[in-house]
Amino acid sequence: MSQISLSRLNKHYGGMQHAVKDVDLTIADKEFVVLVGPSGCGKSTTLRMIAGLEAISSGEIRIGDRVVNDLLPKDRDVAMVFQNYALYLHMSVYDNLAFGLRNKKIREADIKIAIDRAADILGLGELMQRKPRQLSGGQQQRVALGRCIVRNPKVFLFDEPLSNLDAKLRAQMRIEIKRLRVRVPTTSVFVTHDQVEAMTLGDRVVVMKDGRIQQCGTPLQVYGEPANKFVAGFIGAPSMNFFEVRIRAQEGELIAETPYLRARVAERHKAALAAWKDRAVTLGVRPEHLSLNAAGKNSICAAEIEVIEQLGSEIVLETRLGDSTMTVARVDPQLPLAVGETVHLSVPSEQLHFFDPDTEQAIR
Ligand code: ADP
Repeated sequence: MSQISLSRLNKHYGGMQHAVKDVDLTIADKEFVVLVGPSGCGKSTTLRMIAGLEAISSGEIRIGDRVVNDLLPKDRDVAMVFQNYALYLHMSVYDNLAFGLRNKKIREADIKIAIDRAADILGLGELMQRKPRQLSGGQQQRVALGRCIVRNPKVFLFDEPLSNLDAKLRAQMRIEIKRLRVRVPTTSVFVTHDQVEAMTLGDRVVVMKDGRIQQCGTPLQVYGEPANKFVAGFIGAPSMNFFEVRIRAQEGELIAETPYLRARVAERHKAALAAWKDRAVTLGVRPEHLSLNAAGKNSICAAEIEVIEQLGSEIVLETRLGDSTMTVARVDPQLPLAVGETVHLSVPSEQLHFFDPDTEQAIR
C-alpha cells in the first residue's frame, strides 16, 4: 500500500515567505492526484517536500505506513520526473535508464529485463543507443518517464513535466501518461499550472492559491461545484464570467439582476439565496453554458458583439452589456455574426453559480 498523507504541512522560506500553509491531503494507493494553481501558489514546494528535496517546517508526511519527514530522498522510494528531464547528456538512452539500477547494484540481466519492459511501454526500442541531444523534446520526456518506470517505485512525482513541450506534443504526452497509468498503476502526484492537464489527468484535482488548498475533488466536482470564486475562475476555459448582481423576490421567484442582466434563480439555489434577498452577490456564468438569440423568457441579457474569434469548430465571442463584458463560447461556427450586432443570451438557471461578494465562497 502506498497511500500518501500530508497533515498540517507547512513550509516557511526564511522568516517571511510562508509558501505552504496547513496542507491536509490524503492520496489513496494508486490514485493520480494533480496539484494545480497559478505560479507561486506552493504546488512545487509541496511536491518537493514529498520527495524529500525540501525540508518541511512543520507537519507530517507519510508514505505507506512510514513517517518520512526525516528520510533522505533516496530512502523514500519515490521517482520524480522534472520539467527539464534531467537526463545525463553524455550517456545513451539505455545507460540513462540503467543508471539508477546500476547504483543499486542490480544484476545487468535484471536491469535489461526492466529496461525492455519500460521501452516496450513507452515505445523507446529504436532509441536505445542515441544520446539525449539526438532526441526530440517528447522523446527525452519519454526517457525521463522510463527512468522512473524501471525503478518500480511506490510513488511517481511529476513536476510540470510537459511545460517545455509545444501544445501538440503536450496533448500527445498527456495521452501517453494516461496509457502509462493503465500499464503501471502507481500512486502519483502531478504538479501543473495548466488546468487542462489537471482536468484530463487527475482522478482528483487539488486547486491551490497562496499556499493553501482551495478545493480538492474530482474534475467534475471542481468544474461543476467550485468551492469559491477563485476555483470557478481558474478551472474552465475561457474563464467564467462574473457579475455583481442583486437578488430580488418576485412572484414566488428569486431574480438575480443588474441594469443589463436578469436571470431566474433555479430551485436548487433558492433556499440558500433566500437569505440574500435585496443584497448584492456575485453571479458566475460559464461561457460554454450561454446560447445565442433565444430571445424571450430564457434570455438573461442583450449584448453587443465586440470581438469574434472563429475557431472552425466553434466561435468564441466577446460581448458588451452596459459597463461589463461577457465571453460566449461554443457558438455555431456557421452563424453569420458581425461585430456591432446585438445578440440575446440565455443560460439554463441550473447552470448559474453564486458567490458571497466578501468571502468569495460559493453560496449553496
Ligand atoms: P509554484 O510551484 O506553485 O509556482 P513554489 O512552490 O515554487 O510555487 O513557490 C511558492 C512560494 O515560495 C513562491 O512565492 C516562491 O517565490 C517561494 N519560494 C520557492 N522556493 C523558494 C526558495 N528556495 N527561497 C525562498 N522562497 C521560495
